Amino acid sequence: MALLRLDPLLNIFLTAPCPLCDRPGKPLLCHDCQQQLQDCQASSQSAQSIQLGQAQPPLTRLGIYEGPTKRAIAQLKYNNTPALAQPLGEGLAEVWLQQQPNKHYLSRFKSSQHPWVLPVPMHPTKQRQRGFNQAELIAQNFCHRSGLPLMANGLHRIQATQPQFELSPAERQQNVSQAFAIGAALQQKRHQRRPVLLLDDIYTTGATIQAIAQVLTAAQIPIAGIVVVAQAMK
Ligand SMILES: [Zn+2]
Repeated sequence: MALLRLDPLLNIFLTAPCPLCDRPGKPLLCHDCQQQLQDCQASSQSAQSIQLGQAQPPLTRLGIYEGPTKRAIAQLKYNNTPALAQPLGEGLAEVWLQQQPNKHYLSRFKSSQHPWVLPVPMHPTKQRQRGFNQAELIAQNFCHRSGLPLMANGLHRIQATQPQFELSPAERQQNVSQAFAIGAALQQKRHQRRPVLLLDDIYTTGATIQAIAQVLTAAQIPIAGIVVVAQAMK
């Protein structure tokens, strides 16, 4: 009996703190931070398009790169909290699924025609240092919630590049222009002409996405859309 009475107390100490604010989490984020992420989601419904050569794929984002979304990405990447990929990836999938063109697309086409989700790859050396690729973890959770197929190695990063945030917009373009290649898995399935959704954590100038789009366009692989956790506003 004594043990039973102790249980709630033990629980307080055993629950890991919320990675965004250090208050008790339940089971990962505390109630307030969970709510704040959902509010970002609610205010981020309007899809925009971005220009990639001749195509204009829609950009879907969970939120703007500030406040709770920014904190969550920083914790995930720099404070070794890969579990945060779950609320971010699932939240992003919910936004994507609520957008009218996507609802229409999913109901009209059979699942063998649904787009493959391609996470933006990290260079293998950098990924070994971090221990994971955050875009891939977010993509796993995005696919789990949306039902879309994941192609984790659809793209390869063939050049180690400087972090984009250290560079000017022109330098960013140059930095990543030769950085990507199509992986064997996607190469083999090219003939299916299935579209792809590109997924990344942050969208800033679009230089990374532009560089990948060039590689995909050259291989005649259509881009159905871009999905990002956060869009940085200049
Ligand atoms: Zn919190």
